Amino acid sequence: MTEQYDVIVIGGGPGGYVAAIRAAQLGLSTMCVDNNLGKDGKPALGGTCLNVGCIPSKALLDSSKNYAHMLHDYKNHGISFDNAQIDVTTMIARKDKIVRQFTGGIAGLFKANKVKAIHAKGTLVGNNQVKLTQGDKVKTVTAKNIIIATGSVPFSIPNVEIDNKLIVDNEGALNIEETPKKLGIIGAGVIGLEMASVWGRLGSEIVIFEAMDSLLAAADSDIAKVAGREFKKQKMDIRLKTFVKAAKIIDNQVEVTFEKNGEQATEIFDKLLVAVGRKAQTNGLLDANCGVELTDRGLIQVNDLCQTTAANIWAIGDVVRGPMLAHKASEEGIAVAERIAGQHGHIDFNTVPWVIYTEPEISWVGKTEQQLKDEGIAYNVGTFPFAAIGRAVAMNQPEGMVKLLADKETDTLLGAHIIGANASELIAECVVTMEFQGCAEDLARIIHAHPTLSEAVHEAALSVDKRAIHKMN
Ligand code: FAD
Ligand code: NAD
Repeated sequence: MTEQYDVIVIGGGPGGYVAAIRAAQLGLSTMCVDNNLGKDGKPALGGTCLNVGCIPSKALLDSSKNYAHMLHDYKNHGISFDNAQIDVTTMIARKDKIVRQFTGGIAGLFKANKVKAIHAKGTLVGNNQVKLTQGDKVKTVTAKNIIIATGSVPFSIPNVEIDNKLIVDNEGALNIEETPKKLGIIGAGVIGLEMASVWGRLGSEIVIFEAMDSLLAAADSDIAKVAGREFKKQKMDIRLKTFVKAAKIIDNQVEVTFEKNGEQATEIFDKLLVAVGRKAQTNGLLDANCGVELTDRGLIQVNDLCQTTAANIWAIGDVVRGPMLAHKASEEGIAVAERIAGQHGHIDFNTVPWVIYTEPEISWVGKTEQQLKDEGIAYNVGTFPFAAIGRAVAMNQPEGMVKLLADKETDTLLGAHIIGANASELIAECVVTMEFQGCAEDLARIIHAHPTLSEAVHEAALSVDKRAIHKMN
């Protein structure tokens, strides 16, 4: 007899594993099938996020940040070193240990919650059945509900072949064992800028090729301008409107051919990172008769509730529309598990925060000023620079600003944009305000501890009404 579950989740990333745990918490018998292998060749839950994404990249960002502060900033505090060094092998090993700790942690959470974990490739075969393939072993299991959470994989570009030695994708970029003298990066998006930060801080000469005419197209343009200035100070050579046509390996180096203003040129690098976006992972997932349809961009088609075109088949995370972010995947997973259990799982897609872990950090939630203009929504703006915040100056991190956008008539907070120290944490207050449909005035009247970076959010809220205390309005 085939094994039967209330819920089978295909994919054990932050969408899938969270959905599985929530389903089990709600009393549903749950299996999670995942085919990922860790760097050590053993099954590793946690998907892109834990294995080759959010967590390892942040581990390297932190190591390299400490090193860069040692080299460039500590002297301002009167702290000096003789011959500061970074051992890249130790840095990578520390990152690997963190990854293993967290992937193993999920296996423990599955056990504690009685989620059955299977290492196999899952294929949806129709009639609520999933075919599990592990080497030459194949079996079929069934479930009342199936959640697809198979995530995403990097895009490739023509004439640039990834070998993950000299020409790397995000996975290879997290495992470079020696700081490249000259690192080329294709794409000034989130991965490009975070990895440029890591290797630039360790001493690589960085050149980023970006096809578009601006950097961070999704961010508010005032914030992107500040970011561009700061990255320039960090000696990142970001070449806009430059389109990479090909890359080839010559004598253990990479020759990149690119086109700018209609003219072609070549340049030699020690390594090349390809970070040109990601696409849905549906390879071998859908049997012809399973009833699940794809969009014209290759994503699994879902409605607002994450229901696919087949009954009782749901899809969440990077494999469906919306931003490719771990917290968005997890919240969809929770909402779907609750819907399956007959509850009213809820997500507000207007309040999904974004964070980019460069230095300064960049974060935002809600609308940009350009979007409000395009949508014809009247608004007020409040801004405040970290340079006027005592804590930021005491930390020697005065760069950046907070910018808030509020509805002209109702004062409802419509967008919050931060570039500066700890922007990743500061955005949470703005997300809560927006989720509760709060106003700039609410933020302005809340007591913020002194001296903290959060005072910049407070002052920006006061500035919406032109009554900031520590700047001219
Ligand atoms: P995934 O995490 O991709 O997990 C999908 C899982 O399903 C994988 O384990 C895969 O092997 C498995 N799978 C696929 N097909 C099958 C199949 N047929 N059968 C069985 N298993 C299958 N997001 C943030 O929010 N913050 C960050 O700081 C951040 N940093 C990132 C840094 C990098 C370098 C990268 C690449 C991404 C980063 N992201 C970040 C994005 C984040 O990792 C993804 O949005 C998130 O992992 C998506 O979760 P998911 O569960 O949808 O898919
Ligand atoms: P991205 O979409 O952020 O950026 C890709 C960039 O590559 C774009 O600016 C694009 O114009 C450029 N590009 C494409 N083809 C090109 C070419 N031939 N020549 C020059 N430039 C070219 O994609 P990404 O950086 O690969 O990241 C993928 C996704 O992963 C992100 O969108 C995000 O969802 C997720 N991510 C999130 C975080 C975070 O939350 N901190 C960190 C890393 C990744």
